[in-house]
Parts: sequence; structure tokens; C-alpha cells
Amino acid sequence: MESLERTFSEPARRLPVLDHADVLVIGGGPGGVGAALAAARNGARTVVVERFGAFGGTWTSGLLSSIMPFPFVRGLFSEILGEVAEAGGWRRSETEDPYAPGPHGHPDTHGHGGIYDAEVMKSVLDRMIVEAGITPYFFLHVAGVIREGERIEGVVVESKQGRHVLTADYFIDASGDGDVCHQAGIPVDYGRSEDGKVQPMTLIFKMDGVDDARAEEHCRRDPRLASTWQRAKRDGAVTIPRENVLLSRSPVKGQWVFNTTRILGKNGTRVRDVTEAMIEGRRQVFEVAAFMKQYVDGFREARVSETAGHIGVRESRRVLGDYTLTADDIVQANAFDDAIARGNWYVDIHNPAGEGTRTVGPPEGRFYEIPFRSLRPRGVNNLLVASRCIDSTHEAHAAVRITPQVVAIGQAAGTAAALCYGKKLEGIRNLDTSLLRKTLRDQGAFI
Ligand SMILES: Cc1cc2nc3c(=O)[nH]c(=O)nc-3n(C[C@H](O)[C@H](O)[C@H](O)COP(=O)(O)OP(=O)(O)OC[C@H]3O[C@@H](n4cnc5c(N)ncnc54)[C@H](O)[C@@H]3O)c2cc1C
Repeated sequence: MESLERTFSEPARRLPVLDHADVLVIGGGPGGVGAALAAARNGARTVVVERFGAFGGTWTSGLLSSIMPFPFVRGLFSEILGEVAEAGGWRRSETEDPYAPGPHGHPDTHGHGGIYDAEVMKSVLDRMIVEAGITPYFFLHVAGVIREGERIEGVVVESKQGRHVLTADYFIDASGDGDVCHQAGIPVDYGRSEDGKVQPMTLIFKMDGVDDARAEEHCRRDPRLASTWQRAKRDGAVTIPRENVLLSRSPVKGQWVFNTTRILGKNGTRVRDVTEAMIEGRRQVFEVAAFMKQYVDGFREARVSETAGHIGVRESRRVLGDYTLTADDIVQANAFDDAIARGNWYVDIHNPAGEGTRTVGPPEGRFYEIPFRSLRPRGVNNLLVASRCIDSTHEAHAAVRITPQVVAIGQAAGTAAALCYGKKLEGIRNLDTSLLRKTLRDQGAFI
């Protein structure tokens, strides 16, 4: 049991300042990469801090691999995916469902879903960050925030070198979990309104040595292996609370990626929960692998070749800001005069309590908008959110969270911070949102 009741007084000490930035981005996932690239390209001296040894967050350390169709996102996201395709790390899906089998391998990335190779993604992001002149720090964990009234003065970071402070004029919380906002005392929400439960976690993994043609044929006969999986359940061969198998063929020959484990009832911001989720996730990985080898064509000789270094957390804190995006905004495809990104991915809720996935979205061909106000945390003037954890309800979060849209949110936050810095504004609420929208549009975003 976690015990936070006993306390210990740490002796006060002076902390050295490791670096100073015009714009400091905390977290190097899809949102953080979008924010850092946008801030740097708009003239801000930008520093990005990441607790692991690669950029990409859930894209890479989480092994995600699948990208949903993104007809209403362009800008930096299209550029990143174009680079990944150019480097040979992309298999485009010919269908709406990147998990469905079918012809792959077309290099065109515009708006199409598909599967990328996480190792290629890592190297593309390294190069783009370095080429943009951003100062990166890996293996730094933000553990505290120095706040004076409505301003953030610095963040406290920990590494093998000990504890330091990073200072900046503007801060962007791209930690996925809203760590910076939480540490700054900004109010957050958590879970669905009826019982506070969040979407389940998933440990993504890969199998190699697959006979691709035979496996694709099996998946064509039995989409998402639903009936094969149900047969194995009846046999007692699988226990995972899922209704089918989310799997996709990677761009690497003989390699398949699985988004199939399901860990319920854990909180991604609690270290004990995340530890237990990793252990249960790895147990489930080998249960799925045994199922694949026994029941699915083409997998007899396959083996688990990689499990993600970090459990995939779909949902945790949601930071309260100046506007809470709702399910109605998503489903009615609402527009906002301060919109900074668009999307059409639906409210996609993997059941927090067991089997099943709930989906409802905007009308066919329509898009919803994400307002800048939802990126502005309450009570502070020099901090923005560039992550899945923008101000949204449990339902709206389930739509907004996919990576094309999160990169677009990041691009907006980074651009906004650089504009605020460049124009020496008093804070993020003094930024003219029509200037922000024009700048985003001029730089390729679809607004
Ligand atoms: C299992 C699963 C399946 C999904 N399926 C899809 C899909 O098929 N397609 C899709 O587009 N999206 C999918 N998503 C959603 C998507 O991956 C996430 O919503 C998206 O990655 C969020 O991006 P982010 O930058 O906000 O956070 P993250 O990707 O979580 O990145 C946050 C980064 O911040 C770093 N960080 C966190 N805390 C700190 C700290 N205190 N100090 C320093 N660094 C820190 C982390 O290490 C990480 O690199 C899925 C998510 C999960 C979990």
C-alpha cells in the first residue's frame, strides 16, 4: 500500500539553475514535440525536457504505431509523418481502420491512417528537434514547480546529477498527465462524472517472425479476430477483458503490433499503480502471444520481440482552463472563434470497467474545433497545456486525445508562447487569437 501520511522534512538547500529558455516545454511526446518545434520556428529560444531517452512519448516509448485517418489536421503533424514515410517507416492503410488488413505501403501520408515504425519515428524526431535549434534534455523528470502568484518562475527537475531548476519566460505542460499544472496547484478533473473511472491502460507489444500473408488472410476472414478470440475465451485460453484483438502489420516484414492488453482501475499518476500495471501488462502480453501462436494462422513461429518501455495511459488528469470542451462540442461539430485545431476523431471510450468500446462522433465529413481557451490553465499567465490533458470532459478528451490532433494542439501552444514572448506581452490572455490563428494558418495548420 502506498503511504503518503508519514512525512519527512527535507533540509532547505539552494538549487542550481541548469538552463533558461524563452519557452520551456515539459514532455517530449506528440504534444511536446509539436510545441517545441513551433516555438523554436517562431523565434523563441526553446528547451524541451523529457524523462525518457527519446522523443515521441506514447508514439515511441509506448510503441503506439497506429495513426488514425486525419483529414482535418495538417501543419507539423503532416510534416512529421511525411519525414517518417520518406525514411521508409510508414505503411498506409487503404481503409478507414488502420487495424484492418489490406494493401499497405503507399508512401502518401496525407490524411490517411496507417502504421509507422517507432524506431524510425525516434530518429526523425531527434533530427527535427536538433535542426530546429532546440536544446533537448533527456532523463530529466519535472518534480516540482516554483510559482509566484500568477507566474511560473521555474520547474524543479531531477536527474542523475541531482536536483536543479529550469527557468523560462513561458512554460508549456506537455507531460500528458498535467504534472506541471498539478504541481502548480491548478485545479484538475479526473475520470468520468458518474464514478471517477478513467479509460483502461494498455501495454503495447510487437511480435516478429510472422508469416504476413497467412496472418492477413486470417484477419480478413475474421476482422479483429473477434470470433477466434471468443472461441479462445470459451476454451479458457484468454482472460483479458476485451472483446477482440487490436493488431496491425508493421512496416517491418514479419512484424505485428498489438494494442490488446487491458488493465483496469489504475491511476497513471500514481507510481504504485503504474508499477502494478506494467507487471500485469507483461503477463497479458504473453497470454495474447500464446493465443496468437495457438489459434491464428501465420503466428506459429512468431515470438514477442518488444514490449513498450512504459504502459500506455489513455487518460489521467484533465487540467481546468478557461473553457471545458464537451461531448456536445464534438458530436455537434461546434466551431469557436478562437479555434486553434480541428479534428473528426470520435468519442472513443475503451470501457473503464470491462469489455466493450463506446464510440460516437461528429457527422460524416464534418469536423469539430478546439478553442485556445481550453489550453489556458486557470489562475496563471505564462503557462499553456499542449497535451491530451487540455480542459475537456471525460467524453471530449476521448475524442481529442489522438496524436494528429495532439500535435496540432502542441503547434498552437508553441506558436502562442513564442508570439507572447516575441511581443513582450503581459501573459497568455493578452494574445490576440486572430493573430495566433493567422500565424498557424500561414505555417500550414488547417484552421
Ligand atoms: C494504449 C493507447 C492506444 C492509443 N491508440 C492511439 C492510436 O491508435 N492513434 C492515435 O493517434 N492515438 C492513440 N492513442 C492516444 C495518444 O497516444 C495519446 O493521447 C497521445 O500520445 C498524447 O500525447 P501527449 O504528448 O499529450 O502525451 P504522451 O504521449 O504521454 O507524452 C508525454 C511525454 O511527457 C513525458 N513526461 C511525462 N511526465 C513528465 C515529467 N514529469 N517530466 C518530464 N517528462 C515527462 C513522457 O515521458 C512523454 O514522453 C493511444 C493511447 C494509448 C495509451
